[in-house]
Amino acid sequence: MAQCLWCNRTYSPSLNWERLFDLEAPKNLCRRCWNKIERLEAHPPLCSLCGRALAGLEAHFIVKDYCLDCYRWEKGSFQGLLRRNYSLYHYNPFMKAYITRLKFQGDAVLVMPFKRAFRKAYQQHFNHYLPVPIPISPQRMQERAFNQAELLAQLLPKSPLELLKRVSQYRKQSQKTRRERTLFQENPFELIQPLPTALLNPSIVLIDDIYTTGATLRQAALALQPLKPANITSLTLLR
Ligand SMILES: [Zn+2]
Ligand SMILES: [Zn+2]
Repeated sequence: MAQCLWCNRTYSPSLNWERLFDLEAPKNLCRRCWNKIERLEAHPPLCSLCGRALAGLEAHFIVKDYCLDCYRWEKGSFQGLLRRNYSLYHYNPFMKAYITRLKFQGDAVLVMPFKRAFRKAYQQHFNHYLPVPIPISPQRMQERAFNQAELLAQLLPKSPLELLKRVSQYRKQSQKTRRERTLFQENPFELIQPLPTALLNPSIVLIDDIYTTGATLRQAALALQPLKPANITSLTLLR
């Protein structure tokens, strides 16, 4: 018998089900909880840039194989800044509660069920890319005792490298029209100096728990530009 990390129910892990049918089933969660988690790949087509499911969107939110948000990003001055985001799961009410407990109640062990799927996504889509976790501010670090992006990055087969620091907490950009302007002016990220290692045109995969508007990841990508990266992508648990 095993105990579910989320609901504490004891359950019998079905070896057949996990081993034969669903190698990526999150470990340490009972099937009832696991059934509430929606893999984005199970609902194609996905936006070719940010990986969100296009099926649930109204027609005018889809432009070719992009969602409207990505289309706008790519039309503006940040074209190509973030080449691609891959997210594993839909940010549904269950995952919202899950990630809240993980982040705000300091329940770091809650990342473990996703270890295998997260590693596999990295190997499939960003193999050998350098994982760079999105930092949180020192104040947040004190409140939470860990950075969820670092926890996720540590699940990967390649060692993550901290290249960025968050220098301040700017208020959230509330209006999309302000988005591009504020991206430069209010970028909370800076390169760590001196750099921990010499890097020549690295291919980078930014690691974070959630892709929301894409602004945070693009700010991080901007801060990394002095490294002349060959590629900046992102791998996130949720979209
Ligand atoms: Zn459960
Ligand atoms: Zn998109």
